[in-house]
Amino acid sequence: MEETIKFNTALLHSNVEGDKKTGATLTPIYQASAFEQESAEKLERVFMNTMPGYSYTRVSNPTNTSFEQRITNLEGGISTVACASGMAAIFNAIMNVVQSSDEIISSVGIFGGTIGLFKDLEAFDIHTKYILQTTPEEIEKNITERTKVIFAETIGNPKLDVLDVEAIAAVAKKHKVLFIVDNTIATPYLVKPLQLGADIVIHSSSKYINGSGNSISGVITDSGKFKWNEKQYPQIMKYKKMGPYAYVAKLRETIFRNTGACLSPFNSFLNCIGLETLGLRMERACANALALAKWFETCDQVEYVNYPGLGSSPYHEIAKRQFHNEYGAMVTIRMGSKEKAFAVINSLNYALQVANIGDAKTLVIHPASTIYHSSSSTEKENAGVYEDLIRISVGIEDIEDLIADFKQAIENS
Ligand SMILES: *Cc1c(COP(=O)(O)O)cnc(C)c1O
Repeated sequence: MEETIKFNTALLHSNVEGDKKTGATLTPIYQASAFEQESAEKLERVFMNTMPGYSYTRVSNPTNTSFEQRITNLEGGISTVACASGMAAIFNAIMNVVQSSDEIISSVGIFGGTIGLFKDLEAFDIHTKYILQTTPEEIEKNITERTKVIFAETIGNPKLDVLDVEAIAAVAKKHKVLFIVDNTIATPYLVKPLQLGADIVIHSSSKYINGSGNSISGVITDSGKFKWNEKQYPQIMKYKKMGPYAYVAKLRETIFRNTGACLSPFNSFLNCIGLETLGLRMERACANALALAKWFETCDQVEYVNYPGLGSSPYHEIAKRQFHNEYGAMVTIRMGSKEKAFAVINSLNYALQVANIGDAKTLVIHPASTIYHSSSSTEKENAGVYEDLIRISVGIEDIEDLIADFKQAIENS
């Protein structure tokens, strides 16, 4: 039954446990730091991982498990680790497999925080090679024996370039390099990267998965299919007895536990509620984004509209094929000057001006003066950030109101 169940039904019914003890329909918030076992022997076995159970929330927690199982199901993986933020998820996912002198290959148009993290890793002699066009050829050219991770976003933020997951996965597989995909912007509603051959998928679940902008969190989901080998990933080999769970077992026993990257059970609870409407929200937000992007195209004062759903996007064809005729809820527009972009932002009535994305509400920001204020001009250009660019995370408002609001803001500025 699980095999054929559709997206929204799965959100509500798959891997949803509730609480067996009381019959509660939602897994309660287990707001406890520690869990008692009946005997010293049992606690020993929980610590040894020879018996299922809980000991300490930094290691695992029942509310977090409930959230993790729902994400595992949603992305079609075998196991998920929930983290305190999207950045904690990216850090942990990578540190689990690299050591000093290793290399990461990354697409260039990625989230600013991730670029910052990759810079931080240089202090530990872990280096990132950025490629301008995330094509199999460009990746292949840059792979060396030190390459341990290929990292990319399904839809780059804010460049809105669309990754051909299947093509990149094939190159990664050929060279036996772990392929990690940040699926935050596309969400599993548009694409499930593990089904297209990616090895690990991560999310900032602070965004669409939570959906209401009420908690920061991140998730790491493993496909369980990567073939670890002694030469490239010696540190994972110790966990080989765990079979497909080797990566997650190592993560939970080492870097995740030891950096204290755990998520608050309260935030897991909020995420579980948010998840139930992910499909509905995405359906509406994608339709709104397409309608708004098409309206911007008719608007003389908008110099350029970037949206993968428009024929003018160089990524339209791949997006159409990979996302089955839906294109996500992020749109960027160029207004001709920074002053004009600021004036439009200041005249909007509904859109909130925040650094966030993926809320039910429409959100806007001027990336060049905020998220990218400390980036070099080349970094900005590579990320698709221009002085006159406004990034719009389209929400689920009524489209007539959204268009009317942008219309008055553009006319008044
Ligand atoms: C927001 C974001 C992150 C970072 O997530 P936080 O939850 O803010 O730590 C990573 N990747 C993408 C694509 C994002 O949009």
